Amino acid sequence: MKAAVFKEKGVLTVEEIPTPEPKFGEVLCRVKYCGICGTDLHNYSYGITAPGSILGHEWCGVITKLGEGVEDFSVGERVMLYKHPWVPLVPPGKRNDPRNIRLNPRAIYSAPSRMGAYAEYIAAPTTRITRIPDEITDEAAACLEPLVAAIHAVRLGNLKVSDTVAFIGAGPIALFMIQRVKQAGARAIYVSEISSARAAKAEELGSDRVFNPLKEDIITEIVKLTGGRGPDIVYECAAGKNTLNQACQLVARNGRVTCLAVYQEPILLEPLDWYMMQPEIKFTTNGDSTPFDWEIAKEVLCQNSIDVETVITNVIPLSKIQETFQALLKPVTNDMLRVLVKP
Ligand SMILES: [Zn+2]
Repeated sequence: MKAAVFKEKGVLTVEEIPTPEPKFGEVLCRVKYCGICGTDLHNYSYGITAPGSILGHEWCGVITKLGEGVEDFSVGERVMLYKHPWVPLVPPGKRNDPRNIRLNPRAIYSAPSRMGAYAEYIAAPTTRITRIPDEITDEAAACLEPLVAAIHAVRLGNLKVSDTVAFIGAGPIALFMIQRVKQAGARAIYVSEISSARAAKAEELGSDRVFNPLKEDIITEIVKLTGGRGPDIVYECAAGKNTLNQACQLVARNGRVTCLAVYQEPILLEPLDWYMMQPEIKFTTNGDSTPFDWEIAKEVLCQNSIDVETVITNVIPLSKIQETFQALLKPVTNDMLRVLVKP
C-alpha cells in the first residue's frame, strides 16, 4: 500500500510499504479520509516522532478484513476512530484512581512504530473504533476527534448562560468551539486571530467581534467591550510565545483561562501583570477527554448541530502531503482551514 512515511524533521515521503495484517481483535480498514491535526504538524516540524512512523489519527474508513476474534464488526462497514489508545478511562476529577497514568506527550509521540492513517490502509483494534451512523458523512466522520477536543474544552470552561467569551486563535478546533459556545448562550464572543481566512470564518460562525492582534490592542479593546471587566472565559488556542500570558491578562477577575494550545517551545509568562486577578488556569488536550465527550461528539455529528464541514477547505491526495504540511505551518499566508487527506 501507499503511505506517507515520516523520515525526519520536516520530511514525509510517500512510499510503498506492506499492507498491515489485522491482529487479534483488530480490523483492517481502507482509509477514506484522514484529517491533518495540529499535533501532526508539531510532530513533523519538531521531529517528535520516530522515523518510519506513519502519522494521522483523525480517520474514517471501510472495513476490508477482520482479524481473529472479531465478531461484532463485518467487512464493508464504515467506521471511524473512537477514543485514543492513550486516553485513561478515568472519570474527571478522580485524582486517586489507580487507572490514572502519567502522560508525557514526548513519550507518546515518539513511541516507535506508530502506524497512523496517512496511508491506504490502517489496522485498528475494535475497542478504538465505532460504526459511522448513516447521518454522518465520511468528511464529517474524519472530524470526530478534533470535535471531541472542542466539546471537551468548552465543557471545561464551565461556561454559564450570558458569560462573555474570548478566543485567542481561531484554528479548526476553535471554529468548532465558537459554534458550541454560541449555542450554549454566550453573551458575546470575541476572537483574536492573525489569519484573514480564519478570522472571516470566525465571523461567519457567529463571533461578535474579530480582532487582528497585529493591528489592534486586543486587551484594551475587549476589556472596553466587556464594561471594563474582561471576558468571563478565555480559550487560549493559539500557542504563541505570549498568548497564554495575554489570555491571563485579558480574563475577568476570578475568570477561567482554558488552554488547549499545544506549546512546543518555552513561552513567556509575566504573572505580575495579572496574578492579583486570580484567574483559574486549566490545561486540556484530547488526552483528558472522557468517553462521555466522545459520545457527545458523535451525537453532535449525527444531529449536525455543529457544522464541521464548513471548516474543511481542502481535500488532498497523499502525493500532496509534504507540500501541504509545509504550507500549513504558515497559516497566515494561505486560505486553508481544515485539510483532509484522501489516501
Ligand atoms: Zn487530532
